Formats: sequence, C-alpha cells, structure tokens
Amino acid sequence: MAPQQVSRSAWFVQGEAALGSPANRNFISNAGFVVTPAGVVVIDALGSPALARELLQEIARITPLPVTHVIVTHYHADHVYGLQEFRRRGARILAQRGALEYLHSETAAARLAASRVDLAPWIDAQTQLVTPDEWIDGARELVVGGTRLQLQPVGPAHTPEDLVVYLPAERVLFAGDIVFRGRVPFVGQADSRHWIASLDLLLRFDADAVLPGHGPRSDSARADLQLTRDYLAYLRETMGAAARDMDPFDEAYARTDWSRFEHLPLFKAANRMNAYNTYLLMERQQK
Ligand SMILES: [Zn+2]
Repeated sequence: MAPQQVSRSAWFVQGEAALGSPANRNFISNAGFVVTPAGVVVIDALGSPALARELLQEIARITPLPVTHVIVTHYHADHVYGLQEFRRRGARILAQRGALEYLHSETAAARLAASRVDLAPWIDAQTQLVTPDEWIDGARELVVGGTRLQLQPVGPAHTPEDLVVYLPAERVLFAGDIVFRGRVPFVGQADSRHWIASLDLLLRFDADAVLPGHGPRSDSARADLQLTRDYLAYLRETMGAAARDMDPFDEAYARTDWSRFEHLPLFKAANRMNAYNTYLLMERQQK
C-alpha cells in the first residue's frame, strides 16, 4: 500500500482490480486523504481493519497530525470495514443519511456474517459495522485547518447514500463508486436512471483529478464520467428493449453487442449480473 500524491494536500491508496478474497485482504477499493494544517481527513476506510491500520501507518509517515474525520462515500463493505480503527483513534465519522436504513438492515448483517467466513481472518467476530457520528443531509462544507472540503450527496445512484468530496482549492474530486475508472461497475440494485443524473451532477465540478472508489486516478474526468454513463445508458437501452418486447433475458443477453465494453476489467465478473439487474429494473419501470 503506497500512497500516491495527487496534489499539494491530497493523496490516495489504490486497491486491486479484483473481487475481495483472503489473499488480497479485501484491498479492492481506494481510500483518499487530505492533509490539512490541523489534521487529516480520510475519505473511505478500506475493506478490513488490518488495511485501515496500514493506511494509518502510511499517513503517519507523511504527517504527525491525527486523522480528525473520516468521510464515507457509501456503506459498501469494501469501503467501511476499516472504520472501527479510525473511531478507536478518535476520528469523527461522517456519512450521508441514506445509509441509515442499510446499516440496520438484515442485508448488512448477513453480508458481514458472510464476510467473516469468506474473508477470514481479515474480517472476524471483532469486525463491526460502525454508525457515523454525524449524518449528512445535504450539500455542506467541512473546514479543517483552513482547508475547505465540499461534501455533496449524489445518491441514490450506486447506493442511496452516495456522497462525493471535492477539494476546490486543488480541484480534486473524491468520487466514490459513482465513477469507475477503466472498468465495469457493479450496478447491483442501483437505479441507473438516478445514477446517470448523479454523473451529470459531478460534471458540474471543475475537477482536474478524479479519484474513483476503484481503479487509478483520472486526469480525464470527463471521459471517465462519460464511460460509466454510456455503459449504464447502454444497459438501459438494450435490456429495456428486451424487457419491453418480453424477450427472455438469456436470448437478449446473447444477442447484445458488448464489444464496446468487453475489454474492460471485471467485464466477465460483472456484466451479466449488471445486465440481468437492469433487465429486471426495466421490467418494473415499464409497469
Ligand atoms: Zn466499491
């Protein structure tokens, strides 16, 4: 885990382009941090407590200042299982209120139980879901040591609680999983129509650098936003037509031309499920 410096005060560590496994310690997502004169603001907590401790060690090499805040871009396991390590050290945790329902859901509990098996020993009985100290309800500013950060809710998109963080002085955008850089996103149960609207919201920030939740930093913000947007739009277009014509999913999937996206990492792992979820979504939306 080697922090990469993005601008004067912004850094990030980059997870692997893979599914979570004991071999990669669930290091499959990125975390960012902003070093201010009064402390460090971390964006996302990584996928296991061990990874969070390693990130804290890396931060300590860069500055003796403590982590004062952790901002959660969304409550997916690979971004939040490290939170407890930051809380233990007194950091204040912020997230968008849309996560409230998920945090107390059976889905979240089941996911954690499964992770304790699938990701052992990195996720164990001591690993807990951490409730934020402060819920974010709308766009707001966080100022630490004179450094201004803009917190912008953009959900529901990838999740109900999507939140992005913008450092205007250095034009760096921490985009969470709204933007996938050079890979196929996991659509899950997300409503891609809202997601597309959120991507349009991000295009309003005049970012030079975009740090996505997965994959390398981008200095071509517009092209990356566009790729995710085009992929989602293509799923809606092709699967929407199939649902409308009541074509069976398997036939529609086999017939669809995926050549524009099939070279992207995680296409094989994610595309079929993304298409299927979109097919079901479009069926529901047409009723
Ligand atoms: Zn993620």
